[in-house]
Amino acid sequence: MSRAISAVVHKFGGAALADAKSIRHAAQIVAARPSGAVVVASAMRGVTDALLDIAVVASRGEHRAALAAIDALRGRHLMTDAELAADLGQFSTAEVIDRGFDELSELVGQVGGGGPPHPALTDAIATVGERMSASMLAASLSALGVHAKVVDATRIVHTDARHGNATPDFVRTMSAVNEHLLPLVREHVVPVLAGYIGSAPNGAIVTLGRGGSDLTATLLARALNAHSVTLWKDVPGVLTADPQVVPNARLVPRLHVREAAELAYYGAKVLHPRALIGLKDETRIFIRPLADPESPGTEITTRRDRATERKHPVRAITAIGAQAIINISGDGMVGVPGIAARAFGALERVGVSVALISQASSEHSICLVVPSAVADRASDALGTAFTEQLQRQEVEGIDVRTDLAIVAVVGLGMSGTPGVASRLFAAIAEADVNIIAIAQGASELNISVVVEERSVAATQRAVHAAFRLDKIGGGAVAPTPNADVVILGFGRIGRELATQLGEVARSRALRVVAVIDSSGYVFESRGLSKRRLAMLAAAKEASTALADMPHGVRAGAESAISEVQRHALSRPILVDVTAGDTSAVLEAALVGGMDVVLANKKPLAARRGSSGGLTQSAASRGRRLLHEATVGAGLPLIDTISKLKESGDEVLRIEGCPSGTLGYLFGELGRGTTFSTALRAAMELGYTEPDPRDDLSGMDVARKALILGRLLGFDGEIESVIVESLVPDDYRDMPASEFIARLEELDSLWRQRVDDARSRDSVLRYRLMVTSDVVQVGLVAVNTASSLAGLMGTDNQFSITTSRYRDNPIVITGPGAGVAVTAAGVLNDVLKLAGSR
Ligand code: ADP
Ligand code: ASP
Ligand code: MG
Repeated sequence: MSRAISAVVHKFGGAALADAKSIRHAAQIVAARPSGAVVVASAMRGVTDALLDIAVVASRGEHRAALAAIDALRGRHLMTDAELAADLGQFSTAEVIDRGFDELSELVGQVGGGGPPHPALTDAIATVGERMSASMLAASLSALGVHAKVVDATRIVHTDARHGNATPDFVRTMSAVNEHLLPLVREHVVPVLAGYIGSAPNGAIVTLGRGGSDLTATLLARALNAHSVTLWKDVPGVLTADPQVVPNARLVPRLHVREAAELAYYGAKVLHPRALIGLKDETRIFIRPLADPESPGTEITTRRDRATERKHPVRAITAIGAQAIINISGDGMVGVPGIAARAFGALERVGVSVALISQASSEHSICLVVPSAVADRASDALGTAFTEQLQRQEVEGIDVRTDLAIVAVVGLGMSGTPGVASRLFAAIAEADVNIIAIAQGASELNISVVVEERSVAATQRAVHAAFRLDKIGGGAVAPTPNADVVILGFGRIGRELATQLGEVARSRALRVVAVIDSSGYVFESRGLSKRRLAMLAAAKEASTALADMPHGVRAGAESAISEVQRHALSRPILVDVTAGDTSAVLEAALVGGMDVVLANKKPLAARRGSSGGLTQSAASRGRRLLHEATVGAGLPLIDTISKLKESGDEVLRIEGCPSGTLGYLFGELGRGTTFSTALRAAMELGYTEPDPRDDLSGMDVARKALILGRLLGFDGEIESVIVESLVPDDYRDMPASEFIARLEELDSLWRQRVDDARSRDSVLRYRLMVTSDVVQVGLVAVNTASSLAGLMGTDNQFSITTSRYRDNPIVITGPGAGVAVTAAGVLNDVLKLAGSR
């Protein structure tokens, strides 16, 4: 074919063809440059799944349900068609749609109950979606003034007879293209073909395997020697990982054809595994976002880019789930030639293709990875093939292990770059995931590991972070609309937060996907509704543990988190509103790719040791950790400190009263109330811990002070905080009840302290004082004219002295305790994270 024609193939993916609006948009893209265009259409989003489902439902004898599902699909198509007709004034395809669905009903009627439907029948059923969208797309093109024509794909794409996963016969397809397609292109007609469809040598309709319209498009491009083929998708291009699993996946602007093929082969859904076979250098291949046609997307090229390869030896990660390992082992295998060949031969005979093979150098065992669905068939075939070896005990066992996944890292630059494998394994180990098998192809283009399926998301995120793939330079993916929130802790603050989140969830595109308490958790991947959250909160209020509620699961916090992380959450955020030492849980969350919001002080005041603690761990993984509510509840204190630092200011010192409980107590003492009366009132109002000595010991304030100190660069642990306890030595070890009973004994001591202060024109306050060198908390007398003296009730106050605000520090005052303000502080952090990536 001469270059003068320059065919340009456009394929519109199902994900991109969701509704009338996107079909119109697709038509507009072609209409803008119709010359040489050849269009391939996928079924509308979800339609192929629905069709395959209908075949299965019918095969169970549930014809009525199948017919109802057909009606629903028919309705969706007719509605889309009507919308398009109204929009573009286009010629309606309602008749075509009705005919298609009538045919479908007939086909489904042929599915006998009992046993799966015949593959040929399933294929015929599955192709209805593509045929419908091709007509709608062609009609939209016509309405935009393009001379478009639907071409029956079965006349063009010729294949072998393998139903469900047919392979094109290039020679026959090429001649059909020359005969039927090329003349149209020459006459400036835009042919529109259903993707995914072909015809077997006997004329039966076949499908090219899931995602097969990618293959239709590249096959036609190859036959037409097209100038370019563009696969229009719902993603910005090929990303460094599946964005549904790794939220900070980046666009890869240029990908070598071998890398792309490897990704596709190892499960990256973005491209059909065989789509790149046989494409010529002259044909440029693009994967681009329908939503943003101006953006260049990813170009798949045959040119190498050594500089980028050196910088990013690993370009992308992918995974295939539902795999099984078959392990053939035995001492007698050592040194016996032909074992692997025999295994492969046996599997080939039963039509099982092996995704991965690994053999220990001792030759003591060979392990083969195959899809779980065919594991039994494969192991039976191997059992037969090795009958003699099993009898002679050269082979001792053929074992199958299921529920596994392959995670593959791909990149041309890996070849010859030392250390890639060790970095990979270290990252996986650090994510606490066990590697079950490893394989590296001789090309060194791919390293694959087999892990348990439940760890597959965590593995991908850890590896993505370890190779800094979020820095690959193609820009961030447009933010997905959702942030998924997991609430750890369902006490008063947790319940208030759940309620507040329920209120804003819809408008802020947030979902609360799980709540966890000490008994277990309740999880809902699509998000817990406002009503459901309210019900859970009410039940918890009435002392029912989450594990005992409907859909509750009994589990420790760590396994709850790992269970939650098995699901592909969108930009997950873990909120810790407990009061315990949750460091290990939070660490697991960070490793698993979650951002973290804390109201809980303990983990931030915990021993950091040489690892640098939680903050360091978050930073090294590129995760965000916000904790406004740990000091001063909802007051914008930590945010102010960060902003000052970001602006280049230096925070020299923070002074303040961060305890609502002690604030209240000293306010009362100042008014002349006795210590015992004031403390009892505070207890009654719920301002104190059950044992008021927890407040009086100063430890709570010390933790807050340490958190602030660490923000200023203080590198000590909690023991290096200077703490003045307000509990006299003799009163420290007695039971709480006794302490409370004997409060009056302390009245005179406090009376005297208050009077002393008053005689010096001062009042008592429990104050923290923090610099990068010293962190100290204790009782002070402050002048009645000072701002600290003016503090009322449970209000907190902080004054921040910086290089710029040296003489006149910044003062932040306001309610610093209470369930509602604390929850609001947490909510604010959650919204910040949700809106910021
Ligand atoms: P189409 O609509 O053309 O059939 P697909 O839905 O098959 O497109 O492919 C796009 C989907 O592939 C995305 O929604 C994304 O979840 C998934 N995906 C998996 N791996 C990647 C990757 N590395 N880059 C981009 N998308 C990926
Ligand atoms: N509609 C088919 C599928 O969902 C083919 C495709 O989308 O490429 O697998
Ligand atoms: Mg696809």
